[in-house]
Amino acid sequence: MTTISPIKPAQAGPIPHYIPAGNECELFETAWKRQLPLLLKGPTGCGKTRFVCHMAERLGLPLATVSCHDDLAAADLTGRFLLKGGETIWVDGPLTKSVRGGGICYLDEIVEARKDIAVVIHPLTDDRRILPLERTGEVLEAPPEFMLVVSYNPGYQNILKALKPSTKQRFVAIEFDFLPREQEVAIVAAESGLSERHVVPLVNLAHRLRALKGHDLEEGVSTRLLVYCATLIESGLDPRHAIRAAMIEPLTDDPDVRAALIEVANAVV
Ligand code: ADP
Repeated sequence: MTTISPIKPAQAGPIPHYIPAGNECELFETAWKRQLPLLLKGPTGCGKTRFVCHMAERLGLPLATVSCHDDLAAADLTGRFLLKGGETIWVDGPLTKSVRGGGICYLDEIVEARKDIAVVIHPLTDDRRILPLERTGEVLEAPPEFMLVVSYNPGYQNILKALKPSTKQRFVAIEFDFLPREQEVAIVAAESGLSERHVVPLVNLAHRLRALKGHDLEEGVSTRLLVYCATLIESGLDPRHAIRAAMIEPLTDDPDVRAALIEVANAVV
């Protein structure tokens, strides 16, 4: 078995708080040690990014996070020639930096990116583990410490945005979902400082609103929004105003749906 030493243990900061749902920490660590790329699937705001930050800090690895968007192209990941003081110099993109230095590169919401990123992802996610840089003529071999982690939300039922099987099948995958009630209460209380007693009704409301997903709502309330709501309440805001601002308005722009959600909220909290 390969032994890989953490890169920056001496500079490690505090480990971001993360409550595991199962054996995902062990799976992540094993995938990293055995140089396997990882795919995290799950709804927005359920803890994927926090998990990656937690694991990077725990393993003492530098982390480069890229939030993918529909304009993000391969060159944004690999790098570009830029004009600096009359000279043209090559500047590494975040993926190239991670491959050169060894560390985790996390591509959040990978399906949002342009399709040409497959060209750079594919040779890095099989046993070659190489990054060809066409523009500089280099072929970088990823060091053992390098790991590619990507995430996507399979809940968005957009066929154009689905992850291609040819890409999907290059990764070990972990499915994420919102945590069971008690664990989610513990997270929201820990993140916001609001007492668990006051968090319980908010989590109950989130469960009611998540049950409406697919009917009137595209997405249910995320753990992130629950944390926002509890934070506003902990800061002294009237709970009804906080719920409206953090758990209802971000979910819908439709006045009828909004009115229905407010009714649900009034019945639960
Ligand atoms: P995603 O990347 O899935 O969109 P995030 O990782 O940004 O979601 O999670 C949103 C917020 O929810 C985090 O900032 C954190 O406050 C909280 N959170 C979600 N899951 C967990 C967890 N398992 N442990 C600790 N905090 C969590």
